[in-house]
Amino acid sequence: MRAPIIAANWKMHKTRTEAADFLQRLGRHLEPAPTWFDSGEPGAGEGVQAVVAAPFPLLETAARAAAGTGVLLAGQNLHPATQGAFTGEVSAPMLRDCDCSFVILGHSERRALFQESSEWISEKVAAAQEHGLRPILCVGETLEERESGATETVLAAQLEGSLALLNAAQAEELVLAYEPVWAIGTGKTATPELAQAAHAFLRERLRKLLGEASAHAIRIQYGGSVKPDNAESLLSQPDIDGALVGGASLDPDSFYAILRAGATALPR
Ligand code: PEP
Repeated sequence: MRAPIIAANWKMHKTRTEAADFLQRLGRHLEPAPTWFDSGEPGAGEGVQAVVAAPFPLLETAARAAAGTGVLLAGQNLHPATQGAFTGEVSAPMLRDCDCSFVILGHSERRALFQESSEWISEKVAAAQEHGLRPILCVGETLEERESGATETVLAAQLEGSLALLNAAQAEELVLAYEPVWAIGTGKTATPELAQAAHAFLRERLRKLLGEASAHAIRIQYGGSVKPDNAESLLSQPDIDGALVGGASLDPDSFYAILRAGATALPR
């Protein structure tokens, strides 16, 4: 059973007031909790999980506004050290202290704009696990890599490199996000068939790396121009267990519509 997980990646958007307004409006859609939603109440654990990854300065406000809604919080990055002289950085314990349950790691914007290597990301994955944060690990190929036939090589290298320090006992808490770089913020969504093929490939690599049980349990999100009108066709694919949503997650009505589409991924 893989409960679908839909995560909003707000990137560097919103003020505290806007964050609180978003969560109040989303909370109204979720009150009373729909039967397909994981509200966090006992017995609700197999429904769609909703996660919001907010910029660091908004997390405290977001945590207050999300209380009681069932919406979980995520950081968008962390530094592997617990504390220290790392100006501008944020640690896993700090994210836990702000009520984060998840953290996005290895997003293509961090790989490309901040030169993050898979080796560096593997240290972050290990730090997240050590401090009780569930990593949402992103992998994905560029258009050039896809057109040159290198997609599978790139995905395998990012996956294996980023999981090099994974605590295998906690492997099932990992969430993977397949995000083709050419589909992020471009409006060019991967077709459901193309996305499914990449997800099946990733699950097969997980099987080789971590064994059958973990590969079956780990949820793989698709990310790249997911919108309310394409979410259902993507989420109905057998190996697509959720979505990581950028642009369309900034509006609570549109994010709620994608959450509702997550019900089509039930049950796994
Ligand atoms: C993302 O940045 O993770 C993302 C998928 O963005 P968008 O939905 O805007 O393509």
